[in-house]
Amino acid sequence: MTCGGCAARVEQALRGVAGVRDAAVELLSESARVSAEAPNRAALVQAVRGAGYDAEVIQSGGGPMSESADADLREKLRRNRQALFQAIGLVLPILAIDHFRHSLWSHRPESQIAARLLEFALLVMLGVSPAGAPILVGGVRALIHRTANMDLLITMGVVVAFVSSLYGVFIVRDDAFVHLHAAAMILGLVCVGRYLETLARGRASAAMSALAARAPKTALVRRGDQLVSVPVHQIAVGDVVSVPTHATIPVDGEVIEGRAAVDESLMTGEAMPLTRTPGDRVLGGTIVTDGAIVLRASSVGTKSALGRIVQLVSQAQASRTQMQRLADRVAAVFTPIVVGLAALVFIGWLLVEGRDGLAMAMRCAVAVLVVACPCALGLATPTVVLVASGVAALRGILVRDAASLEAMGLVQRVVWDKTGTLTTGAPSIERIELASGWDASAVLRWAAAAEQLSPHPIAKAIIAQARREGMDLPEPTSFESVPGSGVKARIDGRDVLVGGAKFLRASGVAMDEAASGSSRNADLAAIKTYVAIDGRFAATIVLADALRPSALSAVERLSRLGVQSDLLTGDEEAPAQRVARQLGIDQVRAGVDPAGKVAYVQALRREGHRVAMVGDGVNDAAALAAADVGIAFATGADVAGEAAGINLVGSTPHLVADAIVLARTSLRIIRQNLFWAFFYNILMIPLAAIGAILPMFAAGAMMLSSLTVVLNALRLQRRGFSAS
Ligand code: ADP
Ligand code: MG
Repeated sequence: MTCGGCAARVEQALRGVAGVRDAAVELLSESARVSAEAPNRAALVQAVRGAGYDAEVIQSGGGPMSESADADLREKLRRNRQALFQAIGLVLPILAIDHFRHSLWSHRPESQIAARLLEFALLVMLGVSPAGAPILVGGVRALIHRTANMDLLITMGVVVAFVSSLYGVFIVRDDAFVHLHAAAMILGLVCVGRYLETLARGRASAAMSALAARAPKTALVRRGDQLVSVPVHQIAVGDVVSVPTHATIPVDGEVIEGRAAVDESLMTGEAMPLTRTPGDRVLGGTIVTDGAIVLRASSVGTKSALGRIVQLVSQAQASRTQMQRLADRVAAVFTPIVVGLAALVFIGWLLVEGRDGLAMAMRCAVAVLVVACPCALGLATPTVVLVASGVAALRGILVRDAASLEAMGLVQRVVWDKTGTLTTGAPSIERIELASGWDASAVLRWAAAAEQLSPHPIAKAIIAQARREGMDLPEPTSFESVPGSGVKARIDGRDVLVGGAKFLRASGVAMDEAASGSSRNADLAAIKTYVAIDGRFAATIVLADALRPSALSAVERLSRLGVQSDLLTGDEEAPAQRVARQLGIDQVRAGVDPAGKVAYVQALRREGHRVAMVGDGVNDAAALAAADVGIAFATGADVAGEAAGINLVGSTPHLVADAIVLARTSLRIIRQNLFWAFFYNILMIPLAAIGAILPMFAAGAMMLSSLTVVLNALRLQRRGFSAS
């Protein structure tokens, strides 16, 4: 495929296959992702062939990353470089003969014709060489399949120039018809363009390679009573893997022996190395900084945390923005229009100038064909999305798709779900205030047992405390979780409720004692959750959840970017107000249940705001989905959660501001690219039509326009986060 028009046509062909729900073609990696009911691979390949292209089914291997894509790109670069050298080797002599034939050869007509014959020979060699042949074959193939693409335009340009030259040399003996050097230059410049473009694509996907390189290539696996070094993609779930000091953990797994300090910063943003001992989960791609561990593999390849990140990023890179869909549709109809236009130009010149205009008519038609390739249009946004999502991923910002990037660039309002975004989301129990007649460790044990199946940070804190006190927790016989409210479970024949005051009251628990307890100790920073057993209030559990250290500066930075922050929480009024005051947030809403959060976001959107909702991704999935873009702070193994458009791997709210800056810069570059691509075609076609551009300069202009677009996208690598 050579341009957006190609991508659009292949996509259309794939969508036409029975059972295909959706197909997305990625021009840059020349691959397609198809989702289908009972996919018929042969039919898919056949459909692509029917559209004039070739295809094979990519076997998704065991490795977390597409090493083959990397190898493909290198191979392509090698081929394009070779083609470039061959093109230079053949084009230069043609240009030299064309230029010097009068001074080097005698003026006798036979010698001049001999010189021309040499030029013809060299041009034919170029046409059948690995430099020119793929272009011409592509053009002919497009013609056979009645599709129009860049190859076809180039081929038509070259053929017209060639035929015109034959006519000029052998029939009318008029140099005005001879465009041999132009035909050579066109092919040569296309080779230059393709080589530079592949080079730029390699740079654009460098971030992906860096991400993929976080997993080691080999690992030490226990086979029988020996440790064997095996390629990482051969590790299976259940394999026992030994990880020495300073090695990167190859797969996700559970520690079964040893003790180590593990640096998880690349996967979770946690800067401090964490101690991992038997029973703990570790993630592939993290690094053992001290000690050594043996682990049992629990997920490998694309199922591992790192594999999912890589997959998420590469899917994002394949997706398209709304703007690009439009550009692709334009590109798809563009090529046939250009062919028609070239014909019109040809006829026009003949009508105006008569037979004398034939040479001019040929020249202008060739120039129009060559200059009008809509390649820049096809590359305008995909390259930006590619570079942006790669650069972002290295910073811990995982963008789900181009649409999320687009939405992020337009955000004016960020709604923070307090717990786990502005606060650490890892609260710890401060104290347990008991109602009279209850025993602290019994209440903690029941509460912890009830929370075992809840993903809420409060649940984790309660369970951790129980574990620290050496309790083993009974299995609940029934369990119900009410998001944003609490949990209800039956344990040891007792009904246990853990949750907010409203939740317990709604379940018929008298909360008078709880109220008096909190007024005694007006502790504003704390999160409170309440426990009732068999319908009687038993205890208030007071938890402390610290603000993240950079929360204040992140909110301030957002406001400098013109983005207002709102605080939304299911927590009680007092702690919410206090957090808001500390951070300088005016808009606070406390005691909101998940449905209320959705309603709040929807109300903001109805008022015309572009809203980003930031949550922990587990408890706030609905609100995340209701926003223009949902942002989740990913934790632990859940690095590529499903709910959000953007997942943040890290612990600082500054990532939200970073993402906005990057997205805004990306949008600006996308707009520039689309503008230049359109502008280029609109300006160049008329110039070519009136004969102001020679065919060989047309080829140069066409190449420069797509190169400009790619280089403009690469700017993101240097200044993605710095500009605002
Ligand atoms: P936030 O909006 O701050 O993220 P949530 O909406 O998740 O808070 O929860 C709101 C309140 O509901 C909590 O402060 C807590 O009192 C209670 N709650 C929710 N889920 C649980 C749970 N699993 N265990 C205990 N309390 C819970
Ligand atoms: Mg929450």
